[in-house]
Amino acid sequence: MSKRILLVLLILFLCLPTKPVLAQGEQPPKPVYVVQSGDTLTSIALQFGVNPTDILNANNLPDGNQLYIGQNLFIPGLEGVSGILDTMPVAFGETLWSISQKYKTPVEILQKLNHITVPSELFAGYSLVIPLTETEPQTQFSQLALGQTNLEMSAALGLNPWLLALENDQSSPALTLPGSNLYHLFTPEATQTTAISPEIESISISPLPVIQGNTVVLRIKTKSPVHFEGTFVDHKLAFIPMENNEVAALQGIYAMKDPGLYPLQIKGTLENGAVIEFQQMIRIKTGVFPQDPPLIVPPETMDPAITQPENELVDNIVSTITETKYWDGTFVAPVDDPCIRSWYGDRRSYNGSDYIYFHTGLDYGVCKNLNIYAVAPGVVVYTGSLTVRGNMTVIDHGWGVYTAYLHQSEIKVSVGENVEAGQLIGLIGGTGRVNGPHLHLDVWVNGIQVDPEDWLARSYP
Ligand SMILES: [Zn+2]
Repeated sequence: MSKRILLVLLILFLCLPTKPVLAQGEQPPKPVYVVQSGDTLTSIALQFGVNPTDILNANNLPDGNQLYIGQNLFIPGLEGVSGILDTMPVAFGETLWSISQKYKTPVEILQKLNHITVPSELFAGYSLVIPLTETEPQTQFSQLALGQTNLEMSAALGLNPWLLALENDQSSPALTLPGSNLYHLFTPEATQTTAISPEIESISISPLPVIQGNTVVLRIKTKSPVHFEGTFVDHKLAFIPMENNEVAALQGIYAMKDPGLYPLQIKGTLENGAVIEFQQMIRIKTGVFPQDPPLIVPPETMDPAITQPENELVDNIVSTITETKYWDGTFVAPVDDPCIRSWYGDRRSYNGSDYIYFHTGLDYGVCKNLNIYAVAPGVVVYTGSLTVRGNMTVIDHGWGVYTAYLHQSEIKVSVGENVEAGQLIGLIGGTGRVNGPHLHLDVWVNGIQVDPEDWLARSYP
């Protein structure tokens, strides 16, 4: 063996890790985090507020390039925490308290793991780190001591008295008789949404996070009829009763709404007059909207003396909430050959202005023919000629959902007429503020223009 090979072997030997390496099949100590697609050493370190070098050292890794998806990574410096660290989005209606119950993890541990100082900071959609233990959900029976109330027992067990009453088919904690057997299930289902009120069977908001231009769907199912009202951002929600004590509200999110946390407030009134109130922050995230090339249009079409009354007229038309839902399923394309020329949300500059405008709908160019079709069943509520929008038709689809068809050369329907999805309603033209003939399609949801492509792709609610 030459001296050179010996030297290489010696260097290799010296480079071997000096700390003991985990044997094959041996599990690292807890807590561990399972590396997910898209994770980096930096993102993991940031998530747990741990120094990246400490993670490398604790796992005998030379550098962050050694991470692989599915790897069990020991996270150091989290005293008192064990199990597998998982992340989950916080659902609407969940609080730190309800999550603590659901996963049998003290609130303090959740706060520590997630650097939450104020529990009310927890917004729906928040990616929360949770330590999962391997123990199965279990049912526990406890007998109320003589003279002990549900409230006292709940306090002793660290449980929600309302939840305990609900699980035991009692409408109120006050009705639980001393000496009765109470059981409680530590299952996710049992604790999902009851932090708000046992009257609420389920509550959901989607999508989360909410993105500018989205249509947000809020659904609440209750045990008995409840009248709901509420606000999101600064908009009054339009709750519509559905079957089986369920209500839904659709709300459009303004395409240029400042990203951030906004309160969603709900108030429900039961038939007996009791009131359920709930508020949670919802995050609105910025969408990906490119800037269109600067546009030059006739100056009178930008004159507030003309645009303002025109906007008010349209705002007024689309502000009525019709309780009948005319549409069903996804919307159909408004033209035969859907060649889209300009997308929703694009930021716009007119006649040298800053990019303070956005494109409120979808533009279809002239491709196969000039036909314009209704995208869904509804009732025609407006036809007319306007300076900016040109010849326009507005269809009411119910529930605060409207579609508008702009710049037509010919309108083929009249106000009050019922239309079907795919019915010919007009012809593509170049009337109003345009740079050439096209159809501009707007979709309004409770007073806000949203991305029509969402409605062409999926079925609401
Ligand atoms: Zn347009």
